[in-house]
Amino acid sequence: MARLQNILICSDLDRTIIPNGYQEESANARPVFRQLAEHVNIHLAYVSGRNKKLILDAIEEFDLPIPDYAIGDVGTTLYRVINGNWQMEDDWSDEIGKDWKGVGWGKLSKFFEDIEEIRLQEPEKQTRYKLSFYTAQNVDHRPLIKKIRTVLAEKGVRASIIWSVDEISANGLLDIIPTRANKLHAIQYLMQQKRFSEDRTVFAGDSGNDLDVLTSGLQAILVKNAMDEVRKTALETLSGKHMTTRLYLPKGNFYGMNGNYAAGLIEGLVHFVPETGELIAKAVERSIYDIGDW
Ligand SMILES: [Mg+2]
Repeated sequence: MARLQNILICSDLDRTIIPNGYQEESANARPVFRQLAEHVNIHLAYVSGRNKKLILDAIEEFDLPIPDYAIGDVGTTLYRVINGNWQMEDDWSDEIGKDWKGVGWGKLSKFFEDIEEIRLQEPEKQTRYKLSFYTAQNVDHRPLIKKIRTVLAEKGVRASIIWSVDEISANGLLDIIPTRANKLHAIQYLMQQKRFSEDRTVFAGDSGNDLDVLTSGLQAILVKNAMDEVRKTALETLSGKHMTTRLYLPKGNFYGMNGNYAAGLIEGLVHFVPETGELIAKAVERSIYDIGDW
């Protein structure tokens, strides 16, 4: 086999390689993906809203490969993983911390003590540059965000505010993060620091919080199980930029795999980096023995 040059695979976790959506996963999608990730020239980065502990939980529960890098906590943390050792890349923290003038979450939280609708989340849910609150599920979030934005502007802090609802705990969640802490910027930072070129990097995602990366012009894969709405928005944005060829939509029927979750990532990888085809063919062959009754 021809020597494979270094490749960086950046992937979202939930409903991208974790099959925790409604659609079915092909039985050999993850076994093939695991084998690819083992290749010495394939470097894997997980890009997730999860924190380190929840990423580790997912790796364990879904038998995912150990990554080489992990971008977690909505882009506010970047880890390098060496021999099972997760090292925080402090340079990334310093980079995003500029938006907050180096002020960490604890000190920043003091500015919001007078706002009644928000309640500080537990310390383990905070990161140096992510300040997280609970709100009521039915809070009138637009005026609330406006109020928070005013405080931030007064203090000269540049931040994005992300509000969502955790349907399981029935809590509103409000995260304040530095403006430049996002999935796309974190991936670009990683590419630059570790010298991965654009043609050797692919990203896979499934949902609205992946859209920045999916429509950035980086080689991107929107897994087949994505919602139609996301597919539509991504294509519209890219066609406005004349860059629709930078997004791959898996068709399925690829070595018998359906294009959902990891199967979509694998199909897209060979589309953008054809030289991985041989490796994928071998991995498929081996995975048939792995899973027995395929
Ligand atoms: Mg996802």
